[in-house]
Amino acid sequence: MKIVGRIALGLVAVPLVLLAVVLVRTFTYRPPAGLTASDVQVAAPIPVDLGRAARNLSAAIQIPTVRHQDRAQDQLAEWGRLHAFLQATYPAAHRAMSREVIDAQTLIYTWAGSDLTLAPIILMAHQDVVPVTPGTEGAWKHPPFAGVIAGGAVWGRGAIDDKGSLIGLMEAIETLSVRGFAPKRTVILVLGGDEEVQGSGAQAAARLLKARGVSAEFVLDEGLVILKDNPITGGKLAVIGTAEKGYATLKITARAAGGHSSAPPKDSGGVATLARAVTAIVDDQFPMAFRGPGADMLKAVAPEAGFPVKMAVANEWLFRPLLIGQVGATPPGAALLHTTIAPTMLKGSPKENVLPQDATAWINYRIAPGDTPDTVMSRAKSAVGDLPVTLAWNTPPASPSAVSSTSSRAWQVVSATAGAVSGAPVAPSLVTAATDSRWMQPAARDIYRFQPVELALADVQLIHGTNEHLTLRNLEKMVQFYGRLIVTAAG
Ligand SMILES: [Zn+2]
Repeated sequence: MKIVGRIALGLVAVPLVLLAVVLVRTFTYRPPAGLTASDVQVAAPIPVDLGRAARNLSAAIQIPTVRHQDRAQDQLAEWGRLHAFLQATYPAAHRAMSREVIDAQTLIYTWAGSDLTLAPIILMAHQDVVPVTPGTEGAWKHPPFAGVIAGGAVWGRGAIDDKGSLIGLMEAIETLSVRGFAPKRTVILVLGGDEEVQGSGAQAAARLLKARGVSAEFVLDEGLVILKDNPITGGKLAVIGTAEKGYATLKITARAAGGHSSAPPKDSGGVATLARAVTAIVDDQFPMAFRGPGADMLKAVAPEAGFPVKMAVANEWLFRPLLIGQVGATPPGAALLHTTIAPTMLKGSPKENVLPQDATAWINYRIAPGDTPDTVMSRAKSAVGDLPVTLAWNTPPASPSAVSSTSSRAWQVVSATAGAVSGAPVAPSLVTAATDSRWMQPAARDIYRFQPVELALADVQLIHGTNEHLTLRNLEKMVQFYGRLIVTAAG
């Protein structure tokens, strides 16, 4: 009886102790130091001439600086028109800054600071846009290159990505220059001319700046935005990319004898071998891990989230599998936690009754921080085992970026300014696409990826999609953000 009683008491006590620990940790949870708190004093708002900004964004959209997959189709004279437009439209900014045109029509502006002992800051935007998919022109409410201002928005290709940032930067610098602001810290603008194809302009800019000895305090480029309805709390959240994923495409080739499909070989030929190889690779998914910038977002937002999320984050030691299961349940969430594997293209024989001599598949990977092109290749090789296929990179793969600090002064300045302009909590996260800023690593300590536009999750498809537009409220936020950031960081 005594022993049974003791066991019973033990059975009750252990869960009670556990519960107490979980609850105490939940109620005392604070995000890692610096992640959200900032004692930076953000500069006051600047005056914004929203009518002028809208007209200028409209004019920039009407200059079709479209980059094509086949570069021979690019109309390079349009970049010249855009450059002349910027010079004519922003005279005070052009008096304040020196200007260089480098590879791929890329612009570098330098606004020299008065204290050359301070590390410069680099602000980026790109001049080029993606084409409108042929056949979808009719689905646009307003023609994609007309720059129509209607219904409280500026409409057209590039309104958000990325002429909104380009014009936002120029409007802010024009206003600050006219008001006599002179930076203490040098401000460098890198305006890429070919971000949407390979970013050779940004690569050239990075080489040039590094050769000049530039080691910027930070780089700010496009990447993430202010989400109206973030999936964790349902409310507003300004998300700043502290890293971006790597990019690689694996080409898998199954060589076979070919021949007439009326007498196929025992293994059914190259296509069947290829299918086995693709399936083997896809079945061997990279494990999801609750770490890095993807996990940082949840850690930063947890205090604002409901009790279950807060409890799970505060007691990660106990609930890690649950957290991974929850975040990883949707494709965008899963993309934050691991390297993704996406088969995209297939090629067999040119005719239905011909066995192929080689069958080919392409698999696109987005490589999470922590993995490398080498770990991706060796995982694919071990997955296919001794299947008779060859694996090779389609083009040279890109590693994931370094992860930028969330405790540096640079982070505090950028996150505090994002918070002040958006009126929203701020969190770091991982950019699952690629930006020009990845090339800038040799010339900078920290790289942040953020555009101060407020978008619903469903609106993110406007970028590169149909009916891209920037609301005037968002345009105002852009100008405010860049202006206040320059004064806060460099004033
Ligand atoms: Zn872009």
